[in-house]
Amino acid sequence: MTDRYASFVQSAAGRALVKRLGLPDPPRLRRHHPGDPLLPGPALLGAATGGRLAEPVAEILTAAGVELADPTAATPTDTPQRYGALLFDATGITDSTDLRQLYDFFHPQARAVLPSGRVIVLGTPPQECPTPREATAQRALEGLVRSIGKEFGRGVTAQLVQVSRGGGAATADPAGTLTSLESTLRFLLSGRSAYVSGQVIRVGSGDASAPADWSRPLDGQVVLVTGAARGIGAALARVLARDGAQVVALDIPAAGDALAAVANDIGGTAVQLDLTAPDAPTRLADHLASRHGRIDVVVHNAGITQDKTLGRMDADRWDQVIDVNLSSQERINDVLLERELIPAGGRIVAVSSIAGIAGNRGQTNYATSKAGVIGLVDSLAPALRERGISVNAVAPGFIETRLTARIPLMVREAGRRMNSLAQGGLPVDVAETIGWLAWPASGAVSGNVVRVCGQSLLGA
Ligand code: NAD
Repeated sequence: MTDRYASFVQSAAGRALVKRLGLPDPPRLRRHHPGDPLLPGPALLGAATGGRLAEPVAEILTAAGVELADPTAATPTDTPQRYGALLFDATGITDSTDLRQLYDFFHPQARAVLPSGRVIVLGTPPQECPTPREATAQRALEGLVRSIGKEFGRGVTAQLVQVSRGGGAATADPAGTLTSLESTLRFLLSGRSAYVSGQVIRVGSGDASAPADWSRPLDGQVVLVTGAARGIGAALARVLARDGAQVVALDIPAAGDALAAVANDIGGTAVQLDLTAPDAPTRLADHLASRHGRIDVVVHNAGITQDKTLGRMDADRWDQVIDVNLSSQERINDVLLERELIPAGGRIVAVSSIAGIAGNRGQTNYATSKAGVIGLVDSLAPALRERGISVNAVAPGFIETRLTARIPLMVREAGRRMNSLAQGGLPVDVAETIGWLAWPASGAVSGNVVRVCGQSLLGA
């Protein structure tokens, strides 16, 4: 499970060898620790002419304790200014000829971003643009962001955040857009998003409320985590509890001891249940109704693989994978929604995979189930928005768990290195991303599939 190569390149001998042979150079990523500042240095905020977001974004950053750099201030030539983040409001770009403003902002700063710094471009969803020219120019932003993610190196990540126009003024935020823009920026700028890069995130409208204390963004929320006994699910239970949630941790009875250890560790409760049992949805709903009266956040994390090429796969392998990874999620959603146990402001987050985006040899069953999870998000999000409930998925890439430790060495090395950060992610990286989607403040982020893959070349 440990990436020995990544540790080696941090040593003096390792650094010398990497330089001499031009080997992959996985940087040490900045990860979140409670109390950390959002950024390792000041932020530089720029805007295209006529942009609508520079002002609210400046307010959000200042409120979050981020120092805003003044690009006009003179600095001694021998100490060039370095930034923790570059942010650019590109909502004023309405024609391809305006794209030059991106070059003018980013070109002089291309070497000025600190290690594990952030690049964030803010745009308008192309489908909301009034003219084809504007929609075209806004779509073009994706190419810039994805290339910066591949180019800047040293753990710097780059994202495009498309913000709906429905947001209203900076002070009145009836659609929740600005609250969720704030939650999204706080996530993306911080070490929580260490392994997320090259993503396009849509902030629309929804039921979003800011927390009293941003260091406990899930205070008072009751959260269900399936598959919580180990791996990503165990990391998730810990991250959500750290952020203030009351966690209901679920796993199969055979994993009862490990599950109890996780639940005890975080002051949560454990539910032993096989999600594929015919009575699982009603038993789970009964438990949640009697213990908590509601469930604010449902995280469908439990998942299995049963790999074989299609010609060699027996029907059981197909059935089990589809049932655990997809059908059980549908059955549980149906019962919880029908019994109105997920209140307005509720969140559903499902775990997909980059295999569900790109497909994978030997994983026809798994990739089908994980693409289905994306379909579930797409199809449920519009209807549930009316009820104030958001639905999103995360699609992990190569994450260092027992699952990936079993992959043969050469395939494992390729999976680890073939991404912009030249390393595998950790379970905590997936957990932090799910945590952000679960926050009450993130309700206007719905219908998204966010990859936690270090901008993997697979599934591109
Ligand atoms: P894992 O095998 O370590 O953990 C999965 C957990 O789900 C286990 O504790 C297992 O007991 C539980 N589970 C399985 N079937 C269940 C059932 N019927 N009822 C209740 N619980 C059940 O796997 P992980 O690596 O932590 O993966 C978690 C999720 O992330 C899965 O959905 C997986 O497909 C997805 N994912 C993982 C990776 C990766 O690189 N590890 C990549 C992409 C997606």
